[in-house]
Amino acid sequence: MRPHVYRLARDCQVKGWVLNSASGVQIHAEGSAEELEHFTRSLVNDAPPLALITSCSQKEVAPEGMEDFIIRTSTGEEAITVMVSPDMAICPDCRAELLDPGNRRYAYAFTNCTNCGPRFTIIRDLPYDRARTSMAEFPMCPDCSQEYQDPLDRRFHAQPNACPVCGPRLRLLDAGGGEMKGEARSLLKRGLIVAVKGLGGFHLAVDARNAEAVQRLRQRKRRDARAFAVMARDLAAARGFAVIGDVEASWMQSARAPIVVVKSRETQFCSEGVSPLACREIHPGLGTIGVMLPYTPLHHLLFDEVLDVLVMTSANISDEPLIISNDEALDKLAGIADAFLVHDRDIENPCDDSVVTLTGVNKLQFFRRARGFVPQAIPLPFASQPVLAAGPEMKNSFCIVRDDQAFLSQHWGDLNHYLNYERYLEGRKRFQKMLDVDPRIVAHDLHPDYQATRWAQSLAECQLIPVQHHWAHMASVMAEHGLSEPVLGLICDGTGLGLDGQIWGAEILAGDCSACERLGHLDYQPYPGGDLNARRPCRMAAVHCYGVWGEEGLRLAARRMPELGQEEAELLGWQLANNGKQLMTSSCGRLFDAVSAFLGVCGSNPYEGQAAAQLEAIAAQQEGGFFPYSIEAGNRASGSESRQQLIMKLSPMWEALAEASRSLSPAVCSRRFHNTLVRMFAESLESARQLCGLNRVVLSGGVFHNQILLAGLSDILKDRGFEVFTNQAVPPGDGGISLGQAAIAAWQHRL
Ligand code: ZN
Ligand code: ZN
Ligand code: FE
Repeated sequence: MRPHVYRLARDCQVKGWVLNSASGVQIHAEGSAEELEHFTRSLVNDAPPLALITSCSQKEVAPEGMEDFIIRTSTGEEAITVMVSPDMAICPDCRAELLDPGNRRYAYAFTNCTNCGPRFTIIRDLPYDRARTSMAEFPMCPDCSQEYQDPLDRRFHAQPNACPVCGPRLRLLDAGGGEMKGEARSLLKRGLIVAVKGLGGFHLAVDARNAEAVQRLRQRKRRDARAFAVMARDLAAARGFAVIGDVEASWMQSARAPIVVVKSRETQFCSEGVSPLACREIHPGLGTIGVMLPYTPLHHLLFDEVLDVLVMTSANISDEPLIISNDEALDKLAGIADAFLVHDRDIENPCDDSVVTLTGVNKLQFFRRARGFVPQAIPLPFASQPVLAAGPEMKNSFCIVRDDQAFLSQHWGDLNHYLNYERYLEGRKRFQKMLDVDPRIVAHDLHPDYQATRWAQSLAECQLIPVQHHWAHMASVMAEHGLSEPVLGLICDGTGLGLDGQIWGAEILAGDCSACERLGHLDYQPYPGGDLNARRPCRMAAVHCYGVWGEEGLRLAARRMPELGQEEAELLGWQLANNGKQLMTSSCGRLFDAVSAFLGVCGSNPYEGQAAAQLEAIAAQQEGGFFPYSIEAGNRASGSESRQQLIMKLSPMWEALAEASRSLSPAVCSRRFHNTLVRMFAESLESARQLCGLNRVVLSGGVFHNQILLAGLSDILKDRGFEVFTNQAVPPGDGGISLGQAAIAAWQHRL
């Protein structure tokens, strides 16, 4: 803000000073009423691109008789409330300099200014200035410090300001760590795999048009079928292989520059002699692709007229944390990368690329909220004492509430992996320091085996607030939209521990941040083998078959799904027949798995959600049919619910599905399955509305990444007069759950 304030004060003839204090920007302005009026109006209206003004207040004070307008240095004394900006993609001005052979920053990979560049990822401590970042090791040369000190320069007080004379430098290393001559670009053109140090971590890069090279990367990385993201040289290149609408394009080109998941083209456009994108190797079984544009100067330098699209995948080994240091990269990526493009600016806060998509109604949906967004706060509709929400097990992020702002951490991944857990603990310390709070109120999931839960329970002198998983999903939507009145919630996800000790996952809830009631759920199915089922969709199909047809169903399952081994089927049969005390589940994710396996789309799931994603991908576009289902009032398997539950039963569907699959394609069957869920959920919500008179519905949970379900259900609910809310600021999946946990705990301790 300071340069903006300074320039504006000069323009308006206002005298005084501006100061970056820890509690925000303080301005002392002296002038005529008219001058001050103009000054204060433009202050907010013409704020610079990266400024995020959350509040602005003014009061009259005695004049100090200032003769000029000056910028005062930071005090660093008061409580720290100024937040760090997320990292921002290179701005058009810097890009122009980067590509201008006459500019002193021509082809300089660390070009930045006050409008762009690294922030969060280089910060060690607050208040934010160069000495407290990993740029501290690079004293500015006279030219750079001239820019830094000139209030009229674009680099005035740009903390990471640098140039080829004084700033960080690139080095190209071979697999053994020895210095290499030449350019990374020419290695990439030869089909080699290059580890590239980016803003928040290392990527592995390879020519995305070279199928053999992409395949080699997949093999070396021992990556399951999970899709790789790609980085295209520019929008035009990206549009050759992906369908990119205006809103999607504007997100890709924005300063936040996330990976945007878009439809891939069936027929690609490429110029003569150029190979099409290696789609089968990049995103097997999916009709969508994650695309980003170069967001650092370094990335721009990787491309040229010929090389226009790279696979850019996070350089981590099978669910381990993102690699951030040069040594670690050389060590852990030996045998994967053929070369390393590194530099000497340290990454202080690891931060993955954010991944978003545009839903059917052009609303933003996060798969992963990280670079470009973290640590920007999400405003809550009320203020509270400091709260820490520990988050879930998979796709973990934690959340800290200070006053009326919720600060979600970056994505830590699966905390069951010890190294991720270590990063999580470290990240929590950093955030607490950054926010200058030490929360004594700690929210956590009910699941006793989640690492985050165990950690929360190990804290001394903290008040613990256990929050049921699906209630937290619901509250995450309420928090983002500032909803404080009770709402209905339909939460569809993989799994979460329920209040009755069963594994929930398709729940109709009613409540707010103070209380929540379960009104209905998908009919319970046995869940023999627990979490194993998430990786073995054929097992869930067999469970459903057994439920509908008994022993005969198991034989049918074994015939249809070769993935289900004879031994596994027999053991399952034994477990199901002796189901005295076994775990039950109402998981919607596992239902998708079961249908996907039953239709022969995907019977084993190397990554969670693969079977469901592929089932969505094959679904026929134009198909209105659906299967039968029933919604019954019941109180099965659970004593804790006061009201009769709406039990959504799909046993009639399985009969019809088995029948239909004999004559109809899996594509049509898949679409009918989706249509069935849309109808069944809408009808159940209608009953719930009649039961409790609530007209607002929130939809959350990871299953709502399914766009057919999300769009279909939103449409039908709106037609029936419901007000529908979805997650737009945090992921609907477990990556956003800590916001909900935080909101519920914060409500109990609101001020
Ligand atoms: Zn810039
Ligand atoms: Zn310099
Ligand atoms: Fe969940």
